[in-house]
Amino acid sequence: AEFRECDLNRLVNDTVLLMRRPCEKQQVQLVMNEGEVPPFRFDPEKIKQAVLNIIKNAQQALPGGGRIEVSTAVTDGYAVITISDDGPGIASEDQPLIFEPFFTRKGAGTGLGLSITQRIVEEHQGRVQVESAPGRGTRFTVELPLGDQQE
Ligand code: ADP
Ligand code: MG
Repeated sequence: AEFRECDLNRLVNDTVLLMRRPCEKQQVQLVMNEGEVPPFRFDPEKIKQAVLNIIKNAQQALPGGGRIEVSTAVTDGYAVITISDDGPGIASEDQPLIFEPFFTRKGAGTGLGLSITQRIVEEHQGRVQVESAPGRGTRFTVELPLGDQQE
């Protein structure tokens, strides 16, 4: 991995930008809520891929329109990226399985997106979690350690 000191908000904004057109086309409102995050060391290409996989799933969960909110913040030495959607949610029995390679509920899905996301986040000593209320929506949280900024 190519770890270097980067601006997380810039990276997340770039990722959101990639999804703007596909979201507009299906009446999905995509909003970004930037918190203050100091520069810290991470692999920007990989984190972009990790976040893109989650936003893509949210977009695919909203074929009839809806809303996706992407936020950044800092808590307890971690940068936190939150991606919420107001889609159909994930059945509680599926929730423990979605990070498994090849688990998909889509006709033409690969089931690889979230397993790749999880691997990337773990390479950063971080973690990714899901909370979902079927019928109400889904929220993914990615936490990345800010590390010792004195180093
Ligand atoms: P794929 O997108 O190819 O199915 P992923 O690993 O990206 O593979 O996702 C696995 C599964 O997790 C999806 O098939 C879907 O059932 C579920 N999932 C992930 N994100 C969401 C979401 N935002 N809303 C509803 N279901 C989701
Ligand atoms: Mg996917």
